Amino acid sequence: MFENLSERLDRSFKLLKGEGKITEINVAETLKDVRKALLDADVNYKVAKSFTDTVKEKALGQNVLTSVKPSQLMVKIVHDELASLMGGTAIDINLAGSPAIILMSGLQGSGKTTFSGKLANMLKTKRNKKPLLAACDVYRPAAIEQLRVVGEQVGVPVYMELENKNPVEIAMNAIREARAKGNDVVIVDTAGRLAIDEQMMKEIAAIKSAIQPDETLFVVDSMTGQDAVNTAKEFNERLNFDGVVLTKLDGDTRGGAALSIRTVVDKPIKFVGTGEKMDALDTFHPERMADRILGMGDIVSLVERAQEQYDEEEAKRLQKKIAKNQFDFNDFIAQIQQIKKMGNLKELASMIPGVGKALKDIDIDDNAFKSIEAIIYSMTPDERVNPAILNGSRRQRIAKGSGTTVQEVNKLIKQFDETRKMMRMLTAAKPGSKKFPSLK
Ligand code: GDP
Repeated sequence: MFENLSERLDRSFKLLKGEGKITEINVAETLKDVRKALLDADVNYKVAKSFTDTVKEKALGQNVLTSVKPSQLMVKIVHDELASLMGGTAIDINLAGSPAIILMSGLQGSGKTTFSGKLANMLKTKRNKKPLLAACDVYRPAAIEQLRVVGEQVGVPVYMELENKNPVEIAMNAIREARAKGNDVVIVDTAGRLAIDEQMMKEIAAIKSAIQPDETLFVVDSMTGQDAVNTAKEFNERLNFDGVVLTKLDGDTRGGAALSIRTVVDKPIKFVGTGEKMDALDTFHPERMADRILGMGDIVSLVERAQEQYDEEEAKRLQKKIAKNQFDFNDFIAQIQQIKKMGNLKELASMIPGVGKALKDIDIDDNAFKSIEAIIYSMTPDERVNPAILNGSRRQRIAKGSGTTVQEVNKLIKQFDETRKMMRMLTAAKPGSKKFPSLK
């Protein structure tokens, strides 16, 4: 995401290279370029102007530090300003009510229903909540069906009344149902229109005043850039919502909406959607987003995600097997599953500093594992546990069964042997001992 802006800012900073210190004259060209980069990213022009004005003021007011180059200082100032532009610190949703009521608003197609499912999933799996989804789009039966499917996917109940055409009533009944069934969060999905329309606004305002939500979220497609910002403004005037959800950030190469919304509407971005799957949801962290825009990577998110997936018992079990040289193809495939669970590979890799840009045009997707998996699945259980029996004819059979070639099968077995050897050396040796492989 935001690749274009990242590249442009990187170029702007290069304009400062070689200068001894930041002066009014040498900073001017860089800032002009930064402003242009922001405008090209579809950032609101007032926001872009006040941004560069602040950066200039801060840059000129800096003491001259001999240890950092002006361009590095500039990166730091721009980074901090980007973070503050997006709200500074992350702001959580309010779940105080019992049940806590969360109301969704936004245009049709913005991603409301998808986000409702993702949020239910996140609250259930990460915050131990028992959510109930409420289907209040009374105009499109397909929308109710979509919410039902989404609820099923994440294992969260969906409250619906197919015959009832009064969304206020349905929402109230859903809350009653939640109380009766012990659900502690109610997520109310509402009807959207393709464009702002008076009737829709009235309806959502009526739902809001009837159910008195703890949190009203406005969901918007980030790829619509300045339109997203304008829609946010109109919804906020009518609804006075509490937070913004930016969806489809995975397809947004510019970032204009993410950078302008906070300043224009003065409401925090709370979540970002990064894909169609139910786990493609992140809490919005302005600092980390600024890191990513500047191509510094987001190690914090990467580590957090890796930790979430890490299973200590499994790790211990594996370590024992490795020590006894019993690590087999079943473990190998379990490891691949583990890596795949962590999400899209390219997305993960792009969070590592320096890697993001290099990977831009390279296609590593989850298919990278497909042939490896096919080969392993074509082995018999015996072969997986005891790879030593894999002779020539077995290898030929496996290649045929997996739709690969004998060369590919040989390559995988060789890699597997090497991995096994390496793992054994690492677990058998203590750091500092002679056996411990040196990284030098
Ligand atoms: P609604 O009309 O506001 O309820 O919108 P939907 O939830 O039906 O979403 C509209 C389309 O956008 C669907 O095809 C979703 O799969 C897709 N979508 C929603 N959120 C995301 C996201 O974060 N990334 C991507 N790539 N697609 C999304």
